[in-house]
Amino acid sequence: MPVSKLLSSFLKELKELILPSQCLVCNVYSQGYLCPSCQQIYKEMISPMYEYNLKVHSLFQYQGKVREILHRFKYDKFREAGLVLGSIMGGYYQDVLQEKYDLLVPVPLHKDELKERGFNQSEILARGFISVFPQNLSLPTLVKVKKTRRQVNLNLTERRENLKNAFSVPYSLKGNTVLIIDDVFTTGETFKACKSALLKAGAREIQGITFCRQI
Ligand SMILES: [Zn+2]
Repeated sequence: MPVSKLLSSFLKELKELILPSQCLVCNVYSQGYLCPSCQQIYKEMISPMYEYNLKVHSLFQYQGKVREILHRFKYDKFREAGLVLGSIMGGYYQDVLQEKYDLLVPVPLHKDELKERGFNQSEILARGFISVFPQNLSLPTLVKVKKTRRQVNLNLTERRENLKNAFSVPYSLKGNTVLIIDDVFTTGETFKACKSALLKAGAREIQGITFCRQI
């Protein structure tokens, strides 16, 4: 085979590797990472929500296609979809907010929870985020030291009790600004618990970003 042919076949393979021919979410043939149907979620991002008290940005409502995509990532354990969702978050932050933080910190899982799921969804989102908008991703900053119950069926008081002292920071963060990243914002109790641990360690400015919001 002539070198030029070999080269062109190599480039074709490389292109297919870089540009997937299937939608990462629903598997239909697609030129990009998301097929035209899955790209519809961009339309829902018209007005991202902002929780003022906790300073948390959420890009979408937890419904319809967004919910479907998130489930594909979290419960079908399809990490590549999570990287795409994280890159959407990074793109939003870069275009709209443009703020740089000293540390990007994913909401951690307890080591037993990590074993059960096999990966931390917030960490994958963070990896997608920094592929678009580089930040200093800091994994050991926030540690989940207590195994908590699932929050879904708990009332507010129980949620607070459940998350009390759940997170810890093993070293000083004096003067650092921190951006916390998570998949879903519900009542904000997880963010409050994370913030409290980060503040205790000396962080001075803390904001949050979630892929979606379930309210
Ligand atoms: Zn699709």
